[in-house]
Amino acid sequence: MSTYRPGEFHSFEGGGKNYLYLVPSAAIFELEDLSTAILGLLHDREMTGDQVTAELTSRGYAAPDIQETLEELHQAHAIATGEGFIEPRLEIPQQPFPLQTVVMNVTNQCNLSCSYCYEYGEDKISTPDGKTKFMSAETAQSTVDFLLDQSPGRRMVHLTFFGGETLLNFPVVKSTIEYARNKAQEQGKYIDFSMTTNATMLTSEIISFLAENNVGVTVSIDGPKESNDQFRVFHNGKGSYDVIAPKIKELVTVHRSRPIGARVTLTAQVVDVKKIFRHLTDEMGFDEVGFAPVTTSPVRLYAIGNNGLDKVLAQFTELAEEYLEYALENRHHGFSNVNDTLQELHQGVSKAYPCGAGLGLLGVSPSGDIGLCHRFVDSPSGKLGHIDTGIDREAQMEHLNRGHINTKYDCHTCWARPVCSGGCYHEAFVRYGDTGHANLHYCDWIRGWTDVCLRVYGEIASRNPKYLERFDERKAI
Ligand code: SF4
Ligand code: SF4
Repeated sequence: MSTYRPGEFHSFEGGGKNYLYLVPSAAIFELEDLSTAILGLLHDREMTGDQVTAELTSRGYAAPDIQETLEELHQAHAIATGEGFIEPRLEIPQQPFPLQTVVMNVTNQCNLSCSYCYEYGEDKISTPDGKTKFMSAETAQSTVDFLLDQSPGRRMVHLTFFGGETLLNFPVVKSTIEYARNKAQEQGKYIDFSMTTNATMLTSEIISFLAENNVGVTVSIDGPKESNDQFRVFHNGKGSYDVIAPKIKELVTVHRSRPIGARVTLTAQVVDVKKIFRHLTDEMGFDEVGFAPVTTSPVRLYAIGNNGLDKVLAQFTELAEEYLEYALENRHHGFSNVNDTLQELHQGVSKAYPCGAGLGLLGVSPSGDIGLCHRFVDSPSGKLGHIDTGIDREAQMEHLNRGHINTKYDCHTCWARPVCSGGCYHEAFVRYGDTGHANLHYCDWIRGWTDVCLRVYGEIASRNPKYLERFDERKAI
């Protein structure tokens, strides 16, 4: 006779219904009355099927229904039998893994001097001394060839232009797009282009080019003038807001072929999420706004401590509730942090790695060095070869072993691991000196935020399930 006990899940409520987020499968499971009753019984003890049946028939449930529901819960791993629960392990993907995205650092120079910047600030890990500061057109073209060559089996690949300030090397961005489009066409592939910029150098000519070439644009901006100018300043200390505001308004008016996104860095001094969101959408016209707490060592003045993170979570929750209201009316809401998490929850994503860095995504420095991602280029840690000599497979395998969820023992009992998988390698390196370390300083934040998104998901699933169809399409790694 089998003895049942609870499996590994996180329970939540949404729209008056009870749900389980099943950790081993990353599936979301709606609970009927009877399943809720069974899980309630097994909450703090183990019971045999007969004991469960005896208890629940006395409460008016039919024995065959109890047996059937027990079986269903067992198959879903919501309840477990046997000696110990064997957690399904995620494998290291077969190598060589086809490349999906290259982030091309066309320059490591910047005309701003944001003190929190990981590239120039106190937590800088790159050592580009003696190497070129601006990528040449030839290196950019070799990088395109490398991307097309290393992505067998993929019809569509992504090229993201990044910096420093990307537009300091606009001529190379321009020539690379033309080259890449022709090369991709010859090979029957499609290249999608995007870029990140601080918007200070946008001109009407550049905006028209980006619109005509369907380049996705993300602007780094920290909200209204008083927040943005706290850190986003020119080398002479002058704030950048007054320079970028009119340029951004022209960008969002002229470039209508793709949503224009804003990326906000939250610091101890800049945490007013709702106000920033309202300003960037209603006043500046951005279609999407994503927020990320600053990546830094905890001793920095701008680091967000635990109290700050609690405050951010409270404001994220308020904004997520607004997102929910919009979703129930099938209206667009540009809070991309919710959107991205709902997409992963809907698709049942269970990550062996926190992101695609070093696997489907690589960064390339101005001199052609390959790094785990854009944050590791020109840094001895996370170096994975050079575009002329290819990927250093030994270093890549070392990274894939080190960064895998199986090696992050602290995460093995955490219900949020399918979406977190230990968190950003760069943050781990800055905090713990090890890309493979779990980001244990923000677990409460991650679990709190994932719970908020699960509740939003459950509410939409109960009240407007059709809205979730937009998340059916699988996102590229
Ligand atoms: S880093 Fe923390 S929140 Fe993320 S999976 Fe590990 S234990 Fe969970
Ligand atoms: S390592 Fe961090 S910064 Fe780099 S791609 Fe992954 S999440 Fe982004």
